[in-house]
Amino acid sequence: MSHPKLTDIAYLRGLLDRHGFAFSKKLGQNFLVNPSVCPRMAEACGAAADTGVLEIGPGVGVLTRELASRAGKVAAIELDRRLLPVLDETLAGQGNVEIIQGDALKLDLRRIIAERFPGMPVSVCANLPYYITSPLIMALLEQRLPVRSITVMVQKEAADRLCAAPGTRACGAVSLAVSYFSEPEILFSVSRGSFLPAPAVDSSVIRLTVKPPRAEEAAANAAADERRLFALIRAGFNQRRKTLVNAAAAGGFDKQRLAEVLAAQDLPVNIRAEALTLEQFIAAANDTNSF
Ligand code: SAM
Repeated sequence: MSHPKLTDIAYLRGLLDRHGFAFSKKLGQNFLVNPSVCPRMAEACGAAADTGVLEIGPGVGVLTRELASRAGKVAAIELDRRLLPVLDETLAGQGNVEIIQGDALKLDLRRIIAERFPGMPVSVCANLPYYITSPLIMALLEQRLPVRSITVMVQKEAADRLCAAPGTRACGAVSLAVSYFSEPEILFSVSRGSFLPAPAVDSSVIRLTVKPPRAEEAAANAAADERRLFALIRAGFNQRRKTLVNAAAAGGFDKQRLAEVLAAQDLPVNIRAEALTLEQFIAAANDTNSF
């Protein structure tokens, strides 16, 4: 059970009023008031006595409390200073929680993880402020931070995009990057009425189980140059209605060479980015690189 008071709307409003707090739309402040959601998220992220959990945006601490009751240690990064006195109150007595004030996109997350969770397996669990969903997830994955999994609530549409299988219509540059670094899955959906204030759209909880570095996997699956791979993917999806060859040429790739590489993979020269699998992108980026 979630801390009953924090999911009790009357109590929550009273708490926030007492602290003179008004919701900021800009900071994506929609607080969870559905009591069943936080326990499910805390379970899904694998929090256990010997693990550490990094939370982004604790708000009033409704998910933080669930994480703290399961994990060895929780570090939660909150940007809004106005919430610090609220968190002092709602997390009083939770000795294994540390609140870090700052912007999760700017802080040195690698250092925070190393300092706060020495020797512990770490997972990320958060009800994300929606405006930082993609940059934050990409920062966590691309930096290869030592985290086992990322369990986050995001807008439903973002969940569908992040978890879209390569080669499907919903797939974009970010879906390919996500599936390069992790095994994504949509766990469950959460209606807009589960939040205060209610956002305009429904949400989903997704879990990205981080893969070991590609170099340790089969050589055929490894990108020789990840920056080149993602440059090709981004170029392809920047102009997704064009053929990959034309879109990539606009992004600085050698058109002729890319056409040859696609032909060598038995792919039609007029194929669009959205029709390629991740492995085909990796092979194309590797081959154009070797030229
Ligand atoms: N975890 C709480 C819950 O589930 O009720 C709050 C979630 S609310 C969707 C997002 C939280 O992230 C807010 O508390 C907001 O102030 C905080 N936030 C917004 N931008 C942030 C940033 N760049 N870094 C860290 N926290 C941020």
